[in-house]
Amino acid sequence: MNKEITVNNADGMSLQNQIAILQLLQRAGCLTRTQLADNTGLTQAAVSKITAQLIAAGVIEETGLLTGRKGRRSIGLGIVDGGCKVIGVKLSRRNYAVGVFSLSGQLLEKVKGELSPGTDSKQMMVDIRKAVLGFLDKYQEIAALGAAVPGPYLMKEKRILLISELDMQARRDIDLSTLFKGKAFEKLPIVFSHDANAGAMADWWFDIEDRKFSGSIVHFLVGEGVGAGVVSNGTVFAGAKGTAAEIGHVSIDHQGPTCVCGNRGCLEMYCSSLAFVQQAEEKRKAHPDSLLNEMENLTPKAIFDAARRGDSLAIQCVKDVAYYIGLGCVNIINCYNPNTILICNQMAQGGEMLLTEVKQVVKQRIIPYLYEQVAIHLSRFGGDDILFGAAAVAIDYCLRHPDTLRDPGHQDRRNDK
Ligand SMILES: [Zn+2]
Repeated sequence: MNKEITVNNADGMSLQNQIAILQLLQRAGCLTRTQLADNTGLTQAAVSKITAQLIAAGVIEETGLLTGRKGRRSIGLGIVDGGCKVIGVKLSRRNYAVGVFSLSGQLLEKVKGELSPGTDSKQMMVDIRKAVLGFLDKYQEIAALGAAVPGPYLMKEKRILLISELDMQARRDIDLSTLFKGKAFEKLPIVFSHDANAGAMADWWFDIEDRKFSGSIVHFLVGEGVGAGVVSNGTVFAGAKGTAAEIGHVSIDHQGPTCVCGNRGCLEMYCSSLAFVQQAEEKRKAHPDSLLNEMENLTPKAIFDAARRGDSLAIQCVKDVAYYIGLGCVNIINCYNPNTILICNQMAQGGEMLLTEVKQVVKQRIIPYLYEQVAIHLSRFGGDDILFGAAAVAIDYCLRHPDTLRDPGHQDRRNDK
């Protein structure tokens, strides 16, 4: 696939129009030329010209007939999904995952690993690098790599400022700039993102239930850490240094316990999965009949399962944590006025039981009009939301740089070996 994209990229508008068309096709899956013209404001002639060039370059293809306006049948267009792929890398507090994805967000293969407490995080970096190199070797058409890391994360400097964790000394200042250095990476676009921002991009690009072309989505990450990613009309709201929407470090008790960030009573200290388990650990001693005592090592999933089986202590633990997650949603709605909040990561395992409680808290604490305007859902990616997010960040980069889809650079990388 060596054909040139002949749209004059020196003309910024032409490139912008290509990007607009690719983004619409990615989000919708399939659109007619008329629909593309309606949604971009371009003329039919301009759309025909640009799509012809993208088809000739092998980036998009005709995908069958769609019924358009006045019931007329027209040819649909979509992004070619069988060619280019991306790699997503998720780096978490205690685990990592590396996956290969198609452009439509289908996970083709993944490897994952864990970091036991007290282990040097350098070993995890070595394992991640090895996994990525393995995929680069196996898949010849990798167009970009996206890496999602816990925050607060400095985007330009590629540095994690702080990984906070209960009962462990916080790991500070992790330098990621050397993780993907070397010949195999030289021609590969690599995009780092804060994990919650990456998750928000996955919601934006892959959430097939909600394919509107405009609006705001907040990815409310409630796992070992608590954070949020905000995407408005396809663009992440990152802030000056990329640390915006750190909702986990918003104080909900100004006299509460001191957090590693310096603030007191941070939300993360009350509703992270680690805090959830710790609370249950402490309470179960006083409830010898609880199912929670049957397990040696409690996990969020085990507590949720016990709650579903009717265990009263587990139910109370879920209600308690839902209260704090609800407070987080209230703050998110007041700050960002989103169309949709997706509760994601480990605590989304709480399912409808958790969600119902969260919605109750939000309903009591928000202006009724705002409550009616916002949809609160659970993530549809299971525990893999950040890995999908890392892939979404890479795909977003490719859509904004159409040349990466025409030439994923694999020939060059192979020749380097
Ligand atoms: Zn804090």
